[in-house]
Amino acid sequence: MAGIRTEAVVLRSVDFAESDRIVHLLVPDTGRLTAIAKGARRSVRRFPGTLDLFNHLRVQLQTRRSGAMARLEQATLIESFTPLRHETRRFAIACYLLEVLDRLAPEAGARDDMRRLFRFALAALRAAATRKPDARLRVLIELRALEALGLRPELRRCVRCAAELGGAAQVDFHVADGGTLCGRCAAPLDGLLRVHVGTLRALEQGLRFDFEHLDRLVLGPVALAESRQLVGRFQRFHVGVDLRSERFLNEMLPA
Ligand SMILES: [Zn+2]
Repeated sequence: MAGIRTEAVVLRSVDFAESDRIVHLLVPDTGRLTAIAKGARRSVRRFPGTLDLFNHLRVQLQTRRSGAMARLEQATLIESFTPLRHETRRFAIACYLLEVLDRLAPEAGARDDMRRLFRFALAALRAAATRKPDARLRVLIELRALEALGLRPELRRCVRCAAELGGAAQVDFHVADGGTLCGRCAAPLDGLLRVHVGTLRALEQGLRFDFEHLDRLVLGPVALAESRQLVGRFQRFHVGVDLRSERFLNEMLPA
C-alpha cells in the first residue's frame, strides 16, 4: 500500500453499504481515481462534510495494487463552489462537466496532460459558479472540456487534406472527421454541417481565452446556434455515450 497526499475534485459520490461512500475523484497527477471512504457517513472528523459533488479537496489516499480501489483516509475542503448548488443553470452546467470528466478522463493519463485537465476542471467549475450562466458559457465549457480531454475539433484547415480554407463566408464541417473541409474534399460528401467562418473564429477565440476574459467574446445569435449544433454533434459522435446530464442541461439552457 502506498500513501498519497494530493488535491482532488469530486466527480461522483455514492453511498455504499452501512456507512461508506464511494467517490470518483479527479486528481492532478494521474486523472480519474475511484476510492472508498470507509465510515464516511459517520466520521465527521475524517470527512467534515467534504465528499459532495464539485468540491475541491485536499485528500490522503492509500492506493493498492493496480485495479484495486483506493482507500480515502481523509479529506479537507479547499473550495466548494457554493453558487453551483443554488442556481439550477449553474448546477446543470457543472453536472454536465462532471459527467464528461467522469466518463472520459483516463485513470492513468500522462502527468502533464492530467495536470492540464485538472487545472481546466477547476477553472471551468469556477466559471460555472461565477460567470453569467447562459448558452454561451454552456457551449464554451462543452468545447473546452472536449479539448482538455484531447478531442479538439479542427476549425481552421481542411481535416482531410490540410489545405487552408479560402475566403468563403461559410464552410462545411464534417462531424465524423472532426473538422472543417475544403470545397474539393466536401464535394462528394453529404450530411455536412454548414457553418459561417465567423463562428469558427469565435470558437477558436473561446478556446484561447481564459474563462476570466470570456465576457469579451462576442457570439451573436447565428454564431451561438451554429456553435451549439457543431459542438453538440461533435460531442455525441466522438464521446459515443449518452450523457444523462445533457437532457437536464437542454431543459435549463435550450439552444
Ligand atoms: Zn481538403
